[in-house]
Amino acid sequence: MPVAQLQTQFYTGPMLDWLILGGGIHGTILSRYLLAHDLVDSDGLRVMDPYETPLAVWRRVTNASGMHYLRSPSSHSLDIDFRALRRFARRPENRELADFIPPYARPALSLFDAHADNTIEAHGLEHIRLLGRAIEINRNNGAKRVRTAETSFLARNVVLAFSDSESPHYPEWAIQARQDGARIFHVFSPEFNPRIPQDPVAPAVIGGGITALQKACQLARAGVAPVTVIARHQLRVAAFDSNPCFVGPKCLDEFRAERDYRRRRAIIDAERFPGSVPRDVAEDFAVLRKQGMVRLIIAHVTAAEARPDGTVRLLCSEGGRVIESSYVLLATGFKRRIYKAPVIQQITKEFGLPIGDCGFPIPQSHMEWGENIFVTGALAELEVGPPALNIIGAHNSARQLVAALR
Ligand SMILES: Cc1cc2nc3c(=O)[nH]c(=O)nc-3n(C[C@H](O)[C@H](O)[C@H](O)COP(=O)(O)OP(=O)(O)OC[C@H]3O[C@@H](n4cnc5c(N)ncnc54)[C@H](O)[C@@H]3O)c2cc1C
Repeated sequence: MPVAQLQTQFYTGPMLDWLILGGGIHGTILSRYLLAHDLVDSDGLRVMDPYETPLAVWRRVTNASGMHYLRSPSSHSLDIDFRALRRFARRPENRELADFIPPYARPALSLFDAHADNTIEAHGLEHIRLLGRAIEINRNNGAKRVRTAETSFLARNVVLAFSDSESPHYPEWAIQARQDGARIFHVFSPEFNPRIPQDPVAPAVIGGGITALQKACQLARAGVAPVTVIARHQLRVAAFDSNPCFVGPKCLDEFRAERDYRRRRAIIDAERFPGSVPRDVAEDFAVLRKQGMVRLIIAHVTAAEARPDGTVRLLCSEGGRVIESSYVLLATGFKRRIYKAPVIQQITKEFGLPIGDCGFPIPQSHMEWGENIFVTGALAELEVGPPALNIIGAHNSARQLVAALR
């Protein structure tokens, strides 16, 4: 049944047991756990998302990033069993999809996505979706009324399962230059067209992390070399984007035992590695660098100027160096400000929910932020720790929640 039809149908329907807001990696994984553990049946559960297809934002940003392999191991998939993705890859009909690289058998993006589709279909997760974007949550006779711009829904339990992945971070100099008409694009912007333009002059990628390097390698291989990467720091090689010790009890127990949330925030900041690259991506970049197809400049861009001929002049702090390019890509990540989203501010105020000095929610150990309002992903990081945003963070928060409900 089309999602829009479902929405209309549901509007007059009974109150939901669970309404998950956000149908990306986190919301979809949690819906799988709730159904698999019989904590709700598919009539009582809905996943609200502004996009018709599950994982729409994940697919857009991963496709735009030029990545071939996930950074996480094959045990981190959309399904509950940690062997599910490898089993899927072993099926004879999937032989061509089976593509892994070390360490920990990291799956190809195409394999991960095919397995995700398979999991969604096998468990009917596409049939429990509602089209919409929550803008407000209020009390309603012991339940919650979740409003979208068009309508509203009643639910006993609500889960906030969205992150910053719709908010690309633009450096100040880029904001100004774009207002002046400079052709500067953010790879994570919904407006970004990943199709590579014909014969761009001196393409430049801004950023020093995995996406910047992958994008530069992709452009260079597509024949628009040499590509200049402008990074604020030397390359930082790390297998994962946070310390994997926090995935399990070894480090997580101590993190959760910490009652001072400023300390927890400090641990998260220290144990995450933004702007880092796994070894395989660094090596790929090094090969192309030797061939003169990519180059790396360590500098801060301080200003950019749009030229009448369509090129952009990038002024770098170091020695006043100037780079001229007709195709500037920002690989500068996301704003880390989800707690400032108007709907989160509204909920915090309406229900008097606890927040840390850093502005993020303080949920209980089973992810309940307060009054049958639960969190996962970025909004749960003060409880889930450094890998909160990742696929494994979705599993860890779902396990905590499910264990408490049972
Ligand atoms: C390029 C890239 C590669 C990555 N690679 C890996 C990897 O290899 N391994 C790994 O573990 N992690 C990886 N990550 C990190 C992480 O897994 C992703 O960021 C993940 O998509 C986060 O999931 P999410 O559900 O929180 O957000 P999303 O996938 O963005 O989903 C959130 C959904 O909620 C919707 N939404 C927003 N606001 C509302 C609202 N008010 N009401 C209803 N719906 C709303 C959004 O439209 C979106 O559809 C990667 C991230 C990026 C950007």
